[in-house]
Amino acid sequence: MPKPYQFCSDCGAPDLKTMSDREFRCERCGFRHFITPIPAAVALILDAQDRLLVIRRGHEPGLGLLGMPGGVIEPEESGEEGASRETREETGLHIPPEAFRYFVSLNNRYLFQGFVWPTIDLFFVARIESFDGLRADPAEVMEWMPMKLDEVPLEQFAFGSNAEAVRRLRESGLQASPTSK
Ligand SMILES: [Zn+2]
Repeated sequence: MPKPYQFCSDCGAPDLKTMSDREFRCERCGFRHFITPIPAAVALILDAQDRLLVIRRGHEPGLGLLGMPGGVIEPEESGEEGASRETREETGLHIPPEAFRYFVSLNNRYLFQGFVWPTIDLFFVARIESFDGLRADPAEVMEWMPMKLDEVPLEQFAFGSNAEAVRRLRESGLQASPTSK
């Protein structure tokens, strides 16, 4: 089974023993390396007309497929702060962390540096009046589209977690709630 660690990150020895599907132990010094889920924040942003902000991904993995603003949560950040920052970086929209409400967490897998890492995607919902002023970062976002939830083509998402979150949002009835802050 492929593993993300080729050498001991403590002593540099090349002999990592596979202890389980998520633990690799250095045969020389005993240093233990783990695969643990990487937390990511994803923003489900609705406007006053109950349209969801869907983006077309501008980079791999999933280049050209659909998604929502989001990314890996950085050290010291809360999930809401991560959702706010990623939204700002990718779309230019300034939505404060307090405007995001936790919705659901779903497992995902993300190809990075030659290894498929497990991630745990945390989805947060925010409501804004409109998407006016949105400025997509072309390095991240190829195209952006406000879409009615019922019209989002779930099969075109890069990640199953994203499609599942949108499906659950449809069922939740959240999209019918009034604008809140
Ligand atoms: Zn070692």
